[in-house]
Amino acid sequence: MAQYTPMMQQYLKIKADHKDAFLFFRLGDFYEMFFDDALKASKELEITLTSREGGSSDRIPMCGVPYHSAENYIKQLIGKGFKVAICEQVEDPKAAKGVVKREVVQLVTPGTVMEGSMLEDKENNYLASLTEFSDGTFTVSYNDLTTGENSIALVTGGFDAAISELYNRPVKEVVVSSEMAEEQLEMLEGRLGCTVSFEDRTEIEDAFSGLTEGIHQEKFLTGFGRMLQYIKHTQKRALDHLRPVQVIELQEFMSLDMYSKRNLELVETLRKQGKSGSLLSVLDQTITSMGARMLKKWLERPLLSRKEIETRHDQVAGFLENYFEREDLREQLISVYDLERLAGRIAYGNVNARDLIQLRHSLSRIPDILATLQTFDHPAMKQLFETIDPLESLKQLLVESIGEDPPPVIKEGGVIRDGFNPKLDEYRDASKNGKQWIAQLEAKERESTGIRSLKIGYNRVFGYYIEVTRANLKYLPEGRYERKQTLTNAERYITPELKEKESLILEAEEKSVELEYELFLEVRERVKAYVHKLQFLAEQISRIDVLQGFAQIAEKNDYHRPAYHEKRIVDIKQGRHPVVERVMKGESFVPNDIYMDEETDVLLITGPNMSGKSTYMRQLALTAIMGQMGSFVPSESAILPIFDQIFTRIGAADDLVSGQSTFMVEMLEANHALSHATEKSLILLDEIGRGTSTYDGMALAQAIVEHIHQHIRAKTMFSTHYHELTSLDLELDRLKNVHVRAEEYEGRVVFLHQIKDGAADESYGIHVAQLANMPDSLIDRAADLLAQLEKGAENEVAASAEDDQQLSLFVEEARPAPKAKAETPLENQLKKLNLMEMTPMDAMNELYRLKKQI
Ligand code: ADP
Repeated sequence: MAQYTPMMQQYLKIKADHKDAFLFFRLGDFYEMFFDDALKASKELEITLTSREGGSSDRIPMCGVPYHSAENYIKQLIGKGFKVAICEQVEDPKAAKGVVKREVVQLVTPGTVMEGSMLEDKENNYLASLTEFSDGTFTVSYNDLTTGENSIALVTGGFDAAISELYNRPVKEVVVSSEMAEEQLEMLEGRLGCTVSFEDRTEIEDAFSGLTEGIHQEKFLTGFGRMLQYIKHTQKRALDHLRPVQVIELQEFMSLDMYSKRNLELVETLRKQGKSGSLLSVLDQTITSMGARMLKKWLERPLLSRKEIETRHDQVAGFLENYFEREDLREQLISVYDLERLAGRIAYGNVNARDLIQLRHSLSRIPDILATLQTFDHPAMKQLFETIDPLESLKQLLVESIGEDPPPVIKEGGVIRDGFNPKLDEYRDASKNGKQWIAQLEAKERESTGIRSLKIGYNRVFGYYIEVTRANLKYLPEGRYERKQTLTNAERYITPELKEKESLILEAEEKSVELEYELFLEVRERVKAYVHKLQFLAEQISRIDVLQGFAQIAEKNDYHRPAYHEKRIVDIKQGRHPVVERVMKGESFVPNDIYMDEETDVLLITGPNMSGKSTYMRQLALTAIMGQMGSFVPSESAILPIFDQIFTRIGAADDLVSGQSTFMVEMLEANHALSHATEKSLILLDEIGRGTSTYDGMALAQAIVEHIHQHIRAKTMFSTHYHELTSLDLELDRLKNVHVRAEEYEGRVVFLHQIKDGAADESYGIHVAQLANMPDSLIDRAADLLAQLEKGAENEVAASAEDDQQLSLFVEEARPAPKAKAETPLENQLKKLNLMEMTPMDAMNELYRLKKQI
């Protein structure tokens, strides 16, 4: 260390406290990075790597970015999951003795960014924290710094359940204890793909106790405390915009495990091609970004309360039935900015005048929106708007205080409106009058000198001056003008009178800028008092936006309102898959009924590959989710129970991340369903057992169906290619067979995707071959072989069971345990004979003697 220059020593000391972040070290107009940071950043950011002297014998690797464009670089690094520590000069370099004092003023991390350009408009930017307790429960807490939102939930189903809770939510960073087990950390990074950060302090200091008022459970306090400590550590500033923690009662929402969230492609597709192709992308007809964020939250947490679900449906109906009013409303929503994030920024203290203008525009739309809502002819609509407060007084304040076209910077004036403050008006008048006087002076001087090209100008160094071209100098009277600056073909002069006016103007301008800044801060403080009301308003508008979006999509895609039943009946007429029907260009989706009465728990679906089995199954799950989140559903009519949980085992999505085999994943997912499902749940099992050998798989599939049927009684859809299972309906009275067939159409094999009652034809494979016009003799031969194989298979099972037993008996006998054998006396004597030293005669005699002993 000692060999480095004092500044490098300072750098190294600060860097030691921020090992996991790129340290942006402010040097004049640049943020510089050194050593490994420089090597890595130059690659990640594609900027030039240089080096500098630093006291050591080797030059120090260095790269840097200009401070005014730093945001863009920080954004790139954060986007890649890195953290950036911003280290500023915290004293005036001129006043500094020795090295300028520097401190890290903010730690920017993926979960704590505030800058607009680093955020997705339509997504929350969550920082989460995960805390494990000795009884195996976890708390999961969320914070969105941009909106101030805080929430926490207790998860009782172990680590898997905690991961499921986090999965699919827009979590950018998870804060955990440094003692978290290695494999859990791997899961977090692998499954969620987000940055993991450590924080071991968990106490909630008095200053923050307001956030957890009314919450007494130790677990919540610890879990939230961890997050709060981390936020404090990264932000290093007042955090008074955070909203009180909301406890999420998970049991009030439909629970979807991670597998289902992924398999059902709710917010992104399995191949992670982003949102398009997901249910979210189909449903999103919101106008505002805050509406889009709320829609996503609703999708992540479908409701269980029938009353709440039906309230949402009533309101969607209200929007749907009033087409023209809805069109007006959509038009009006376009000019409502992101009130929620604006409120967040106001509270956080980093709004500029343009933000306030956005707020003003948005607020001025609210009365129109209210008026439009009042014209909706529907009883359920009243609830949506009767508590809306258009915040007139806030709007008034913004109209009076902020000018029409303010600059983005708040320290250079031009922000406050004329008439808002008499003192400011005075300064502005003084400067304006002064300028007018100067303009008049120009005319006056021209006249008195007769120089028509004489002009008055201004620059920062010399202030106001009178400029006369060289050719005209001779016309200038002596003595009145003082020369100030010489240019190639002109001279610049000043007069005492001009300077006097100048200082008046400049002083007025300086004072006015200063005063404007003060006034702006004052306005900002006054606006801050409205933050909570603004947040509430934002929530109300978001809700209206989501619901109008549901009406819009219902109309566009022909969705209908589902009805809910206390009885466990599923009765969907002409149901469709909301996503598949959208992506099928040109072709039309074939609707199907789904019917399971109170006495039917399991639908066993058979049919060839690609006939539409899994589409049919997903259709039910997606319909259930859409209905419970408040949307109408893709069918002509639907009667549904309220499902408490949905479990899926669909398709062969290899679990590459954890390196488990497909079959193992299949069993894990199935087991998850078996151990958590209730009779109010929905289970979808697609081709279970496919990952192992035929009999093994079939046996497992059958045992699973039986288990669900006897012990769980959840509504279950089970697709299989084990035709043998279709006979289960003889033993299991709550199991029903349905099937899909391949058909012939104009001489071609086609799948009509129609689900029919009963089991599929046993030989549908051969049937398909027949449709494909294979020779009759070949088809006959195949049918014979099938019969033989099936017969053989039955015998084989029995035989192999017997064989196993016989074989094992034989093996037992054939291999007696090896015993240590005692030597006989004869053997003993033979061993001792030393044949090399015996004559033939001796050998003969010895042989004779031994033989006599037998
Ligand atoms: P399976 O599970 O039987 O192998 P899928 O459900 O994966 O079959 O469906 C295969 C393809 O058939 C789907 O990608 C879709 O394009 C089409 N399909 C499925 N169901 C329908 C339907 N009801 N109407 C039209 N096309 C469908």
